[in-house]
Amino acid sequence: MFLKNKSLRFFSIFFLIFCILTAITFYGVYLKKQSLPPYIGKDLTTKEMNEVIKRNSPLTSYVHLTENADFPRQSKIKKITIHHMGANLTLEKLGESFSKRDRQASSNYAIDDHGNVALYVEEENRAWTSANADNDHQAITIEVANETIGGDWKISNQSYQKLIDLCVDICQRHSIEKLVYTGDKNGNLTMHKMFDADTICPGPYLESKMADIAKSVNEKLENETKG
Ligand SMILES: [Zn+2]
Repeated sequence: MFLKNKSLRFFSIFFLIFCILTAITFYGVYLKKQSLPPYIGKDLTTKEMNEVIKRNSPLTSYVHLTENADFPRQSKIKKITIHHMGANLTLEKLGESFSKRDRQASSNYAIDDHGNVALYVEEENRAWTSANADNDHQAITIEVANETIGGDWKISNQSYQKLIDLCVDICQRHSIEKLVYTGDKNGNLTMHKMFDADTICPGPYLESKMADIAKSVNEKLENETKG
């Protein structure tokens, strides 16, 4: 059909281009979804959860995988980076927050106030946690719930003990012989504020414990090697 009306013809061409671009965009999104690992962004059955936990820390008791990550990470795992939640969230609530695409945030693990461990980004992938791609491609990142909000942002003793156990487990499974805390980003035990001047994360309490965390983890690593 030949359109005599010039503006109608212009509109038809415009509409056709619009349709083609929309189709390309949807196809791109479809391809991206196809390339994501399975189980992202959905509630898992116990069987599915156990399957995921087998590839990660056996200390994990809750899994909610988020799309906010790079698949896969681009470096061998050499570091651990500590964060605090800046809140006392349940593992489910934190998972909900990490599943929001516009929040652009995630962590590999989190530990709640009772010492339960959640996994949001599998270890083989890079979580978006420390505002530093170079660090997070090399690090397993861990968020810890705060027992006190504000002040020194204390964490509970149960969370603290589980943090030590999780670090020991990560070091053993990734052949990290020793955790070194240097107070700056050169060590392999790092914290968020080393990479972002605008944050106090992981808070004064955890910051004061960083050297102790390295010491306790190393003692356990040594003892378990001897044993
Ligand atoms: Zn942080």
